[in-house]
Amino acid sequence: MKDLSFDTKAIRTGYRTTAEQEHSEAIFLTSSFVFDSAEQAANRFSKKEPGNIYARFTNPTVDAFEKKLAALEGAQACVATSSGMAAIFATIMALLKSGDHIVASRNMFGTSIVLLNTIVAKFNIDISFVDLSDLSAWESAVKNNTKLFLLETPSNPLGEIVDIATLSKISKAHHILLAVDNAILSPALQNPIALGADIVIHSATKYIDGQGRCLAGAVVGNADIIEQVHGFVRTTGPSLSAFNAWIVLKGLDTLSLRMRAHSDNALTLAIWLEAQDQVEKVYYLGLPSHPDYNLAMSQQSGFGGIVSFEVKGGQESAFKIINATNVLSITANLGDTKSTITHSATTTHGRLTDEERLDAHITDGLIRISVGLEDIKDIIADIKQTLV
Ligand SMILES: *Cc1c(COP(=O)(O)O)cnc(C)c1O
Repeated sequence: MKDLSFDTKAIRTGYRTTAEQEHSEAIFLTSSFVFDSAEQAANRFSKKEPGNIYARFTNPTVDAFEKKLAALEGAQACVATSSGMAAIFATIMALLKSGDHIVASRNMFGTSIVLLNTIVAKFNIDISFVDLSDLSAWESAVKNNTKLFLLETPSNPLGEIVDIATLSKISKAHHILLAVDNAILSPALQNPIALGADIVIHSATKYIDGQGRCLAGAVVGNADIIEQVHGFVRTTGPSLSAFNAWIVLKGLDTLSLRMRAHSDNALTLAIWLEAQDQVEKVYYLGLPSHPDYNLAMSQQSGFGGIVSFEVKGGQESAFKIINATNVLSITANLGDTKSTITHSATTTHGRLTDEERLDAHITDGLIRISVGLEDIKDIIADIKQTLV
């Protein structure tokens, strides 16, 4: 399947049928698998013979999702997890040990910051936070025991980015693994591994599912890395269920079509917002006025569906606008066909300290919209009537 293009791989990779010759992938709702004989059972457990044993280890539906996502990210292997947070935690726990050091972007998903500061820190793993875009800050934060660079690009909600190819040169020079959370763009719009990253992490809950139906996550990378992460997952238990794997597998089929539509809608909205008096600033990478527009053009094939804007009047007017919407859903989720609106400072980033929030540039007047697939004219009209 190597020579096929992205859209074909998204539909054909990992596709298999059972003896029933069904055309849509079956869901293997089973917790365990039976063996022909005691000898076969022994061989499966001792890894002399490949094959399924128990669904915490492997499951054919989960395997189909893993193969397809690995192909789309251009990686050797993938392990699916029960959520995006499980994917981040499994990566850290599988690859690092007590006494190691992580350099992480301070412009990450709020729970990722909380995970590092409250859970990972308990295991004597030291963490330094740096500004995502500041390449020299990444390099100066490196210590003898640094094992991992961890980041999200573009960041959510502000769309800050880092030059992945240049950062990967720094990480390689110091024998540090570079892990990129690619949930915001998905493999349809950005392939960090092709740019030099070692690991790509996903919350498949977002665009990969694309319809807000279930939680799922994944880690992709080379076979050696994924074997270690898979070992952690099969032993500690955050494995992806077959049913949720089937949902995200179906999501991958239409991913690039949806990401293009999300991006088109988001750009239309961002351009309109920029022209509104009540709007102080619009954050969208696809606006040529964005300082990182050229870098984004060089490493992404689209700008994605997240548009954030700052309104005059701080939290009070932000809440007023959010409450006055009729079409948009007030929810912190993103990557759904339905457009969603949220006040980042009090929701997704609410558990950060004031200082962490300011460092991440999340101000009180900031509103984030995850632009869905409705007719963008209706979304603009809905926001317009809130700005009176
Ligand atoms: C949502 C999200 C996560 C966490 O994923 P869950 O599936 O909710 O556990 C991690 N990173 C990013 C960028 C996200 O948007």
